[in-house]
Amino acid sequence: MLKNALPEIITKQLPGPKAAAIIARRGEAIPGAIKCVYPLVIEKGAGAMVEDVDGNHFVDWVGGVGVLNIGYSHPEIVAAVKAQTEQYFHGMFNIVTHEGYVALAETMNAMVPVRGAKKKTFFANSGAEADENAVKIAKAYTGRPNIIVFSGAFHGRTMLTMTMTSKKAYAHGLGPFPDGIYRAQFPYLYRNPAGMKSEDAIAYYTDSILKVFEEASPAEHVAAIVVEPLQGEGGFIPAPLEWIQAVRKICDDHGILLMADEVQTGFCRTGKMFASQYWQEVGVEPDIITTAKSIAAGLPLSAITARTEIMEAVKGGTIGGTYCGNPVACAAALKVIEIMQRDRLDERAREIGTIAMDRFNSWQERYAVIGDVRGLGAMIGIEFVKDRTTKAPDPELVAAIVNEAVQKGLIIESAGVYGNVIRFLAPLVITDEQLAAGLDIFEKAIIKCV
Ligand code: PLP
Repeated sequence: MLKNALPEIITKQLPGPKAAAIIARRGEAIPGAIKCVYPLVIEKGAGAMVEDVDGNHFVDWVGGVGVLNIGYSHPEIVAAVKAQTEQYFHGMFNIVTHEGYVALAETMNAMVPVRGAKKKTFFANSGAEADENAVKIAKAYTGRPNIIVFSGAFHGRTMLTMTMTSKKAYAHGLGPFPDGIYRAQFPYLYRNPAGMKSEDAIAYYTDSILKVFEEASPAEHVAAIVVEPLQGEGGFIPAPLEWIQAVRKICDDHGILLMADEVQTGFCRTGKMFASQYWQEVGVEPDIITTAKSIAAGLPLSAITARTEIMEAVKGGTIGGTYCGNPVACAAALKVIEIMQRDRLDERAREIGTIAMDRFNSWQERYAVIGDVRGLGAMIGIEFVKDRTTKAPDPELVAAIVNEAVQKGLIIESAGVYGNVIRFLAPLVITDEQLAAGLDIFEKAIIKCV
């Protein structure tokens, strides 16, 4: 059974012959800007495993970039989706109410840790759409025009979210961009300014928000501060709890909403259903949370949750869309949440995270190219450098390791502003044997490539 298989490459080379033919057709038919460096054409997926069209088996540590926390083709989700498709695919929620949307909103309201006793949720199709909608409701509620985002942030590829995203490679030549977006420094503690004592770091990064108030947008014009609890594309960097406490205080002092972008961190990835539950433990609740990716096991769905008072400040007609809250995606999401709670995938994320982190930490002691290892639960980043003293990023080495690993049956991906971080995002249904096999391939790839 593929679900329990181990990585195995049976073709002489990758891509194998059938995959090579499809990849060549891809090159002819589809813009190269939709990049892909992997020699991989999927035939089927099960759990944490992918079988390609030539019969090769890969263990997948990317999981559709954080979409497959529940794994590929979970049989109970397949059944829920099939049952829904036999009833109807679509109704458009402005025309036909469907119960799945209502039930999923109720479920989200009961569990998403935003501030407030009474909450409401509405749905969109992608992470970027969720973030864009969250900004809209923050502006509607506060009556203010501006938002603050961070260095290293990734919020999507729509016009607004591309502007919110820090890395300008994602926006090259596409301006002019929307106004009213200001950037402060994210606490990337591994790369604190030279000479800074670690005890001064939190104050330094907090001050960088206050500087935005002085130099760019007065606080009373700021609707929201948008934070990823653990930056994803920016390099798998957890937001320190002390810092988020300071950010919450700044928001409270100035009537600004705190928005958590949990598009990548949500749905058990970090060892809790939502990463902002770690914030809750130190007294911090965001006002708005956006989720997407693993919410519906691969069907396009995203959610925006906030207290009723915020949601009801939004004028009719300004939010929504044709496919938002699609019934098939809602059916999948309800089943995802049921399984995650029943099978305690939050605990499993912590277990997987501990096994992987122990191994990564031991590598850091042995291989000088590993500058930093960090993460929460099963969301871990390993940062590669040319020199531990200068911390010069080594994206070329990372690209070589990613390439070598896939040749041996492990799918891993780079991340980070400098492209020098390898991310660990394995599906949370991965078996211990598959995890161990992936770790072995990864370590051999490091040894071969350094
Ligand atoms: N926000 C975060 C934190 C993300 O990681 C991503 C995607 O990687 C997005 C937003 C954008 O999501 P999507 O690609 O579904 O638009």
